[in-house]
Formats: sequence, C-alpha cells, structure tokens
Amino acid sequence: MMVDGTRGPAENDAMTLQLLNRIGGARVASVTGGSFEVRSPTDNSLVATAPASSAADIDRAVAAAKDGFALWSRMPAPARGEVLLRAGRVLEQRKEEIALLMAREMGKRLEEARGDVQEAIDTAWYAATEGRRLFGRTAPSELSSKLGFTVRRPVGVAAIITAWNFPVAVPSWKIFPALVCGNAVVWKPAEEAPAVADLFAAALAEAGLPPGVLNVVYGDGESAGAPLVAHPGISLVSFTGSSPVGRRIAEVAGRTLKHVSLELGGKNPVIVLPDADLDLAVDGLLWGAFGTAGQRCTASSRLIAVGDVAAKLLPRLIARALELRLGDPLHPATDLGPLISEQHRERVHARVQDAIRGGARLLCGGEISRDPRLAAGWFYPPTILETARGTPIALEEVFGPVLTVLRADSLEEAIDIANEVEFGLSSSIYTRDVSAAMRAVERIDAGITYVNAPTIGAEAHFPFGGVKQTGNGHRDGGWAPYEFFSEVKTVYIDYSGRLQRAQIDNRL
Ligand code: NAD
Repeated sequence: MMVDGTRGPAENDAMTLQLLNRIGGARVASVTGGSFEVRSPTDNSLVATAPASSAADIDRAVAAAKDGFALWSRMPAPARGEVLLRAGRVLEQRKEEIALLMAREMGKRLEEARGDVQEAIDTAWYAATEGRRLFGRTAPSELSSKLGFTVRRPVGVAAIITAWNFPVAVPSWKIFPALVCGNAVVWKPAEEAPAVADLFAAALAEAGLPPGVLNVVYGDGESAGAPLVAHPGISLVSFTGSSPVGRRIAEVAGRTLKHVSLELGGKNPVIVLPDADLDLAVDGLLWGAFGTAGQRCTASSRLIAVGDVAAKLLPRLIARALELRLGDPLHPATDLGPLISEQHRERVHARVQDAIRGGARLLCGGEISRDPRLAAGWFYPPTILETARGTPIALEEVFGPVLTVLRADSLEEAIDIANEVEFGLSSSIYTRDVSAAMRAVERIDAGITYVNAPTIGAEAHFPFGGVKQTGNGHRDGGWAPYEFFSEVKTVYIDYSGRLQRAQIDNRL
C-alpha cells in the first residue's frame, strides 16, 4: 500500500517509524521516493513506512556491496567473527526492544518474539567462533615432498531474501554465516516486517560492521526481490519463503549460474501411536499446531492418529484447543496472536471452508470470531478438521492455525501418509516404543524428525531444512551454511625441486 496521507483511528505518529534503505553505510530513500505502509495485524495501527525500492535501488546496493566485499573479504576470518560476537552482545542488550517491535509489527506473541531474537543471539555466538574454524582439510599427497590442502574462500555478494514469520532468527541464520565467510550482503527483508529488520541491521552497524558489508533494501518481491535475484553482480542467493517463489528464484538465478539455497514450505506430520504419553502428545500438538498462530514452516499441520488412539486423544486435544485465548500478542495471557494480514486470513478461512464442503469434519474452530475486542485484527481460531487421505487440506500448506487429523491402522500406513505430501521439512512421532520411533526416523522423508516432541523447536547449532519441494538440498543452521557461503580452493605445494607428475611418477 502506498502512503497517501490518510490516517486511521488507532495511529500515533510518535510510534510510526520512518524507515530508509541502508546502502553503503548511509540511510537513503528509494530512488523514486515511493514508500509503503506497514500496519500491525493486531489493531491495524501504522507501525512504519518503508521505501518501496526497485531495480535502481538494487543497483546501488549491489555496487555498495561490491565495495564492502573488497574490504571485508580481506579481513581475517577470526576478526570478522569478533564483529559478530559484538553483534550478539548488541542483540542481547536490545532483545526486549526488538521483541516488542516484532510482536507489534507481525503479531507474534511476545514470549515467542523473544525466542526469535534469542535464536539470532545463539547464531551470533556460533558464527563468531566459526571465524576461528572455517576448516579446510589436508590429505597426504601421492607424490613425495608435496603438500595438498584446501582453504575456504568467500564467494562474493550474497542476496538474502526472507519471509516475515521469523523476521530476525531466519535472517541471522543466513546473514551471520555469509559474513563470517567473508561475503558482503544485500538483504531484502519481507515487506510485512521491515521495521524489525531495520533494528536487526542497526545492531550489526552498532557492532562495527564496516559500511557496505550489509546493505538492506526494502520493498516487495516483484519490484525489489526479483531484480536482486537477476542482478549480474550477485554470486549467491539464499532464500526463505514459499515454494512457488523459491522455484522462480531458482530458475532466474540458474540462468547466470548463481549458487542458490532455498528453504521453503512444509506440511509437517505428527504420528501418535496408541502407546504414546497422551498428555505429552496433546501439549506438543497444541504448541506445534498453534504456536505463532500456525504460521511456521515447521507447524504441526497433520496429526496422524494410529489405531484406537484417536478416541482418547481427540477429545482431550479439542478441549484444550477450545481453551486457547486469542488476543494482543503483547498480553501475557494470549495464546494466539493474529494472522499476518486480512488477505492471508481470507485465504486460510477459504481453505477451511473448501475442506468442509469437500467432506472434512470440523472438530473445532473454523469461524471468524465476532468478539468486538478482536475486530480490528486478523485473528483466526485454532481449528481442527478430520479428513480423508489425499484431500487438498491434507496435502497443501495452509500456514495458519489449522490442524488436519488423519487416521492410520498401523505405523507403516502412518509413515506412508506422512510421506505422501510434496514437502519434507519437519516431522514427529509420539511413542514409548524405541523400535517404532527408530522406524519412523529411518523412513519419514523429512529434513527433521522429532521423537516425543512437536515439529517446531529447531536449535541454532543444528542444520535446518527439508527434502523434496521444501528445498534444494542446502541447510540453514549449525555448521551447514558455511559450506554454502564459501568455496573450496585446493592448494598443492611441491617442495621437491623437480617436476613430479601425478598419476605417473612414484608408482611401483
Ligand atoms: P513468500 O515466498 O511470498 O515471500 C518470501 C520473500 O520472498 C519475501 O521477502 C518476498 O518479498 C520475496 N519475494 C516474493 N516474490 C519474489 C520474487 N519473484 N523474487 C524475489 N523475491 C520474491 O513467502 P511468505 O508467504 O511471505 O512466507 C511464508 C512461506 O515461507 C511459507 O510457505 C513458509 O513455509 C515459508 N517459510 C519457510 C521457512 C523454512 O526455513 N523452510 C521458514 C519460514 C517460512
């Protein structure tokens, strides 16, 4: 939405942030001077205005990043790591401020928003020490007086494009490893959460990151994201978002052979066996399905109930779901905040309606509340539907507080159901039987499997990502992204003083 000078009732100019792009250490408006508004999904109040950037802004940012790269890539990796150590400290000091803005801007509950910032802090600690590792390898040469080893080198300018639902954690997963490896970055944060992105970028500037090393350009996917991906000055693209956009990015980036890392959608199953601890399973299902109002790529969106467990599990689950309170994400009693936008709520509601028309049985939720206290925001109740295998609601990502229940006669059938979607991000099984748990670990096609825990809850020092249409084989998190954000150079040093021929000399 463009700024048109109109103001809504709940607005307070003192609380409205005027954001600017961050290019080459300067804060600048978009080349066209255009901007867009960001409104809180809780009460529609104006949170920020941000530059509506386009290809000309991307050109500027990539040029600044090239200059930043020239300096930063030559700084020793341990020194780069120290900047990230300071960034972690600044984020710690600013944790509450960032979490409060996050809760207001994109509607995540304050407790979860704090967790989002904490994940970036954890990632900073990991990245800082990685500056003293970035291991190469050595192996014996097949020739005498010759040494072979590898070193890791920066790649160039990285384009980082992120979704709004983890507006600090996910960018940190990408930006920190990119920086430690010596790359410069142009980041296009989600248009729904630019204000919190700006605080994150400010923390890095405060930590002493040199100008031009991290450049931030605000705007939407078509106008700002697409020209960034296509830009010839970009060497790698790291993207988190939906699968359709990920496919387009891979296509465009492939034309110029950019390296591409994609973290995309999910439709994550929770298998519950009859021997499971049902209290634990109910706690896990509620947290996994309705945390962040279900707007997590790892949300538990399919419950696969095995054998007779449904008869005991579902009444408890429904009773507890009905107790969950919708409300202001800043209020400590709130269990579910709003969905990100009116349009997204319409999409979620339409999916639920279509499913019911297609024969799904509504077990709870499914109606937009008429409570006047919720009227200004995009709230949607925790919704549970039972459906047959193969229906759209059982296969497609909803990205809202909607849990689909499916039944299976055996563990084998449950695993088949778990695997019959196009995604493969997270998964979970509740059982006390270690053999059943291990069969699920072995056979479920997913990047992550939890045993006796819900599908959400990634830790910063483990790889994170998925198989099938969830990604293209790369991982964020832990040690994995350092491979993506650097390239290997193999070095041979021959100190024999004579020509030695590999594969020919020194043979018996
Ligand atoms: P989205 O794909 O619509 O947008 C994500 C980002 O891509 C935004 O910054 C957007 O501006 C940008 N974008 C859109 N079109 C573009 C284009 N043509 N070129 C370049 N950039 C473009 O995703 P969303 O709806 O905002 O986020 C929700 C999706 O993200 C869900 O599918 C969710 O599962 C996924 N997600 C995945 C992970 C993961 O790690 N696997 C984490 C969080 C969210």
